[in-house]
Amino acid sequence: MRVLFVASECYPLIKTGGLADVAGALPLALARLDCDVRVLMPAYPGVIGHLRDVQEVAGYPDVFGGPGRLLAGETADGLKVLALDVAHLYDRPGNPYLGPDGNDWWDNTRRFAALSAIGAAVGRSGVGDWKPAVVHCHDWQAGLVAPYLLAGPAEGRPKTVFTIHNVAFQGICGRADFDTFGLPSSFYTPAGLEYYGYCSFLKGGLVFSDRLTTVSPTYARELRTQEFGFGMEGVLNERANVLSGIVNGIDTKSWDPATDPLIASNYSARKMAGKAICKTELQTRMGLRVDPDAPLMIVVSRLTGQKGLDMLLPNLEGILRRGGQLAILGAGEQGMERAFVEAAAANPGAVAVHIGYSEPLSHAMQAGADAILVPSRFEPCGLTQLYGLRYGTIPVVARTGGLADTVIDANDASVRAGSATGIQFAPVSASGLGFAIERLFDLFHNKKVWRALQARAMAHPVGWEDSAPDYVALYRELTTEGV
Ligand code: ADP
Repeated sequence: MRVLFVASECYPLIKTGGLADVAGALPLALARLDCDVRVLMPAYPGVIGHLRDVQEVAGYPDVFGGPGRLLAGETADGLKVLALDVAHLYDRPGNPYLGPDGNDWWDNTRRFAALSAIGAAVGRSGVGDWKPAVVHCHDWQAGLVAPYLLAGPAEGRPKTVFTIHNVAFQGICGRADFDTFGLPSSFYTPAGLEYYGYCSFLKGGLVFSDRLTTVSPTYARELRTQEFGFGMEGVLNERANVLSGIVNGIDTKSWDPATDPLIASNYSARKMAGKAICKTELQTRMGLRVDPDAPLMIVVSRLTGQKGLDMLLPNLEGILRRGGQLAILGAGEQGMERAFVEAAAANPGAVAVHIGYSEPLSHAMQAGADAILVPSRFEPCGLTQLYGLRYGTIPVVARTGGLADTVIDANDASVRAGSATGIQFAPVSASGLGFAIERLFDLFHNKKVWRALQARAMAHPVGWEDSAPDYVALYRELTTEGV
């Protein structure tokens, strides 16, 4: 089965969030199931330098106002990449979506219309003798792939899957922009790309793709409600018969406490001594009081309203009163960054904050912490709680989306049954989080229960072994349909 992924970010080449992790790890898991996947992504600066055996496989004289070319290469892990090198669109350093002023690049819709147009072209014609049966598009940046394919002849058209990683990001632009995309104007209707007087890339993916998936079964249901659908619930209800939820996995090779080179000491469920060393190292590194008995909670996250971290601030006092510590790694909204920096300054030794993005520090934090807090207001899947499980760092999560699907709440019954892996809380509010943190302290101080919880969390399957076969089944179903 040949599958073309189209994604705007892909680990280890560029990453701002969970989409990159999935676009980097899922193809490798699919390869183990005999799928031949190539990931089409923009050649941001540095991308090509990280690929080996690079070859130019196509040239384009005019990609939205300038020349471009397609380069095929492979990462060290064997991920096959098609890098779309269009200097006037992608040769910009830093965050792939934001300019130096922290705002979206002014031409983002054009940049990703280009990615979608080339995605459709490669989907239709392939590269060399490689031609995909399925094009699997991820998030709004690939939302126009299916419309571009449908604008062409039916002959030779691959099947399309569109995965929603976050419905809140919708790729909205005006009619004037739409008119530059080269799509039929008949697509600009309420039954097509038109969305309340604008054009939405996301809606294009949702309306025109053969199958829709999202990254957890609970989010697949939530998406169809007004509360979580962000205006797309109507479209999603109409297409409910082709929508399913498949929970994300993680790359269990690069996230393995037994071998992780980014942590102070390796450890496993059977040999946990290394985790205590990691905790001491993390406390030292972040300027926290070195104390093995202080429950150390972490946050590794974008600092945005979605992630619910504002609900943490009113709980700070309670955490500190019970001798807890808090370490935060994140970047995002300025007000939230400032609030956490101020909290750290006011509570030296107990609260530490690193504003910015650091993959190595995120590993060290997962390894050194006792618990990870994920109080998201909505969370399509969430990955940091999965890293937490893998590292014996107990997740405390809001009962929503993929968080609800991946963590087993430590209530009386599940603790007794030995199946608990973390803490879930609802309602998703500051006081809900507060009660969850209270429960965390109680569990932490009962060493026998805590060790059992850690062992169970670390045994919980978090790789792609369960979910990758679901994607293969979907691709098979699609490609044999009507045969
Ligand atoms: P989202 O995609 O909504 O941001 P996910 O939980 O699905 O949330 O994925 C976030 C990914 O980004 C995880 O791999 C997490 O470790 C990583 N991450 C988020 N913020 C940071 C940061 N400041 N530094 C390092 N890694 C981060």
